[in-house]
Amino acid sequence: MTIPLSIQETKKGEAICPYCGVGCRLLMESADGELIRVKGVADAPANLGGICAKGATLPEVIRTPDRLTQPHVRPARSKEPRPMKWADALGWTAARFREIVERHGPDAVAFYGSGQLDSEASYLAVKLFKGSIGTNNTDSNSRLCMASAVTGYQTSLGADGPPCCYADIDLSDCLVVWGSNMADAFPVTFNRMKAHLKAKPGVELIVVDPRRTNTANYATLYVPVAPGGDIPLMNAVGRLLLEHGAVDHDFVAAHTEGFAAYRDFLRQADWAGLVSAAGVPEALIRALAERLARSRTLLTFYCQGLNQSTVGMWKNNSIINLHLLTGQIGKPGAGPFSLTGQPNAMGGRETGLLAQALPGYRFSADPGHRAEVEAYWRRPAGTISTRPGLTAVEMSRALEAGRLKAIWIAATNPTVSLPDLHQVRRGTALPDWQILARFGQAMGFSGFQFEDAGAVWDEFTGLTAGRPCDMSGMTSERLRRERHLRWPCPSLDHPGTERLYLDRKFPTSSGRARFHARLHRPPRETTDHEFPLILTTGRLYAHWHTLTRTGKSPKLLRLEPSAFVEVHPDDAAEVGLTAGQAAELSSRRGLIRLPVKINARLPRGVVFVPFHWGDQQGENVAANYLTNPAIGRIAKQPEFKYCAVRLGPAPDAPGPAAT
Ligand code: SF4
Repeated sequence: MTIPLSIQETKKGEAICPYCGVGCRLLMESADGELIRVKGVADAPANLGGICAKGATLPEVIRTPDRLTQPHVRPARSKEPRPMKWADALGWTAARFREIVERHGPDAVAFYGSGQLDSEASYLAVKLFKGSIGTNNTDSNSRLCMASAVTGYQTSLGADGPPCCYADIDLSDCLVVWGSNMADAFPVTFNRMKAHLKAKPGVELIVVDPRRTNTANYATLYVPVAPGGDIPLMNAVGRLLLEHGAVDHDFVAAHTEGFAAYRDFLRQADWAGLVSAAGVPEALIRALAERLARSRTLLTFYCQGLNQSTVGMWKNNSIINLHLLTGQIGKPGAGPFSLTGQPNAMGGRETGLLAQALPGYRFSADPGHRAEVEAYWRRPAGTISTRPGLTAVEMSRALEAGRLKAIWIAATNPTVSLPDLHQVRRGTALPDWQILARFGQAMGFSGFQFEDAGAVWDEFTGLTAGRPCDMSGMTSERLRRERHLRWPCPSLDHPGTERLYLDRKFPTSSGRARFHARLHRPPRETTDHEFPLILTTGRLYAHWHTLTRTGKSPKLLRLEPSAFVEVHPDDAAEVGLTAGQAAELSSRRGLIRLPVKINARLPRGVVFVPFHWGDQQGENVAANYLTNPAIGRIAKQPEFKYCAVRLGPAPDAPGPAAT
């Protein structure tokens, strides 16, 4: 579970780091009203006192003078924004929303949030849009990073949510990192992993990734899967596990369904085709399968390398298949562990912020779920729409087409997540939950009067009673006292649950986890003579998302000052590019110009661009001018990890300064 941020801020300068999904608890030290130092909190289960450069440089970020602390309204697009009092701004916006809904219907408005919103704000956005305005158009940027993991868990295990915890790292004899550069993107968790490897020399670390990243530097086995080759590799490993006799037949018979179909699917698969599509030498696939077969406690971490794909859900199903096959789930030290991209992505999943969801792991397509939530909110039957909500990419298409007339975008609010009270006093900023509550009142809806964030939390957690993510025993009062609890926690005297499925009962209709036989589907776009290279995108250690905060830290900018394209030396030589030279990179959708970094650890034919830089940092530097907007059928997550590009020297323009 994720501790609600606005509850944390009341604790003696402690807060959850607003950046990555590790969720480090931080101790903030201030002097003369200024935040001067940030440290990790020693007894926090997520970080055990650890912190990385991003967390440690928060004081630099908070001091920046350009933070908005009050609403600004632009009377017309051509006019400069001007400050406005909260009451006036909320009244003005509520009137505009009412007018649009009356004229165009409730589906003409939408809310686009973030995995950095606290749970209270996410919950109120859902109550406002789904339970009051009457549209399911709420979604979050978690769609871009976690939607495949969500649907993967739901279809394989019956409900969303990683079954493991970070403490499992210390108990595992075989750690697999598949499709994640954990060393850079989840540094504190990876440090825990490194400490475990050092303390227990026999422990394996297997890294599966097309790029030989910093994470791979620590691997006992590195498997360079081809971009898009994950499912054939997982299927090949599954087949070898069958042949090695590594199947936990007792577990499979008692706690799963669909095994026979999955087994037959693997046996009938064309072996040479699997090996070829995986792009991995057969000997290496056998080495990978042998290590998994002999592990007693197999813990697999995975992230955007699997999720950001049009078959991301299938990749998640396929990795979970391997854990079901070997009985490596529902026991300490083992399980399929999807790394969460943002600090409170889970909160958005639990509160129903994703388009298809309702609070407490319910679905808007389910009439029973709609009725339960309507009754809890004291809304007339039929208030929650039966029409599917727009997801992130669909919202942007609907805006372009003019179907969406107004969208509320709420990413994050550092004044909520960080207890810099002096700063808050100098401005008039409001926490997101208060903005939403006051907006709900301005729209004339009932049920938006709350005394404090704790009251919102308590209303939300009441809706989780009896659900897989039951937090009804985690009241705001109890959380203030005990500081961290994990769901399910169904009563006030329940201690919370460290690991899911220890009883081997899964929240499916049969109580069994499900095998899914998943075919290989290549990425939507393939390379050709015009666009012969594969572009993959990702994060760097020093930065977070789109630089809105880390871009304000001189220390972090010194570590990674500007965007670049990483190229294999042979690919660079083939088009006459050298290190530092400005390159032009183009796809079927656009072009960008970046200085070249030569990296012999990339596979041939693959280039890498970090996605952090956008138009505010320079013209034509944003990786997403090139990426493919194709989305998966169910998870609707875009395919950021694979598109076809062409590389060459930039004509005329020198591009950004080489680094
Ligand atoms: Fe921890 Fe991530 Fe924040 Fe670094 S960025 S301090 S690893 S939560």
